[in-house]
Amino acid sequence: FFNNVPLAPPDPIFHLTASYEKDTTPKRINLGVGAYRDDMGQPWVLPVVRKARQLLLEDPALTHEYLPIAGLPALRDASIRLILGKDSPAIREKRTIAIQTISGTGANTLGAAFLAQFHPVRTVLVSNPTWVNHKGIFGNAGFDVKEYTYFDSKTLGLDLEGMLSSLNSAPEGSVIILHACAHNPTGVDPTQEQWIKIADVMEAKGHFPLFDCAYQGFASGDLDKDAWAVRYFVHDRKLECFIAQSYAKNFGLYGERCGALTVVTQTSDLADRCLSQLSKIARVNYSNPPAFGARIVSRVLNDPELYTTWTNDLRTMSGRIIQMRTLLREHLIKLGTPGNWDHITRQIGMFSFTGLKPAQVSLLQSKYHIYMTSNGRVSMAGLNTNNVEYMAKAVDDVVRS
Ligand code: PMP
Repeated sequence: FFNNVPLAPPDPIFHLTASYEKDTTPKRINLGVGAYRDDMGQPWVLPVVRKARQLLLEDPALTHEYLPIAGLPALRDASIRLILGKDSPAIREKRTIAIQTISGTGANTLGAAFLAQFHPVRTVLVSNPTWVNHKGIFGNAGFDVKEYTYFDSKTLGLDLEGMLSSLNSAPEGSVIILHACAHNPTGVDPTQEQWIKIADVMEAKGHFPLFDCAYQGFASGDLDKDAWAVRYFVHDRKLECFIAQSYAKNFGLYGERCGALTVVTQTSDLADRCLSQLSKIARVNYSNPPAFGARIVSRVLNDPELYTTWTNDLRTMSGRIIQMRTLLREHLIKLGTPGNWDHITRQIGMFSFTGLKPAQVSLLQSKYHIYMTSNGRVSMAGLNTNNVEYMAKAVDDVVRS
């Protein structure tokens, strides 16, 4: 029967990395995948992760038993505190739960499976553009996936009017995927005033918000600032929501697959019911989540000293990314590269949506061995003090040609 199985297309981002790996030119730069690199272009194990890992390995009581279906309790509680703040009224009122997930992807997938089963409306709206996996995840769960206007290609910023209008014309009670901070792929986030207007429409239309939060602390270096939108929805507007949290970027624990799905409901009883159903879905899909990354994250989140070290590590990462934005823009201005490059420093987080066209992206790859997705998205983490000038000169050339 395998004859009936067609070949699926490769994943665009992982395919790009494979092409980069095959390229032997010393000058090659990978600006595709969203994984942090240090100034030498190397993967960075956060000092706090090294420390927590060592403590774990030295612990004679460490076993490799299964975690509970819902994951490590101390990680689940700490995840809620991290996103909602330790003084959250929702936590005090016990109307929030979290389930540990297979990183952020798993949090989205579990959320989608739950919503497909219990949410009355089968329409989900994702931003145009969005993280590539959103459409696949919600499509697979049986949702009708539509887009809301988000990015304004003229200003390279947010098209707020377009966004509000899309949300307004969506069926009442749609599921809306919102990026909590550091929007992927554009790096464009709403301002606080804009979030308030978004919340107005969400509330008026009875839409259900799923915040995808893959970059808390990584975006601005400030964990509370990056959680502002979520906390505003939950505390100021008293809205119910899902929050898909990933510890891939902010802990550099990409391959350990650690995350959480936090659920905020109106009552404690409803929160418990949600946890029971989410656990049931987890059980039939993967039974129990992975333990090692969860133990590292939990250790850090629950130890004041390690937590402080972590916030320093976050500032190291976000600071380096912000520095690369500044340097890239400065080099382009110095070269007199046609166009306005202010958006590079205005955008936030791992990515910059440069505005480069597919033909220019293709030329960057063939002529300069610089790899990025065809929509002109650059992972700023791939830039460093050794290659940023080369990148600027290459961009200058392709923009002029
Ligand atoms: N959501 C968004 C918006 C992302 O950018 C990412 C990472 N690329 C994820 C979720 C999930 O990543 P992971 O499963 O590695 O946590």
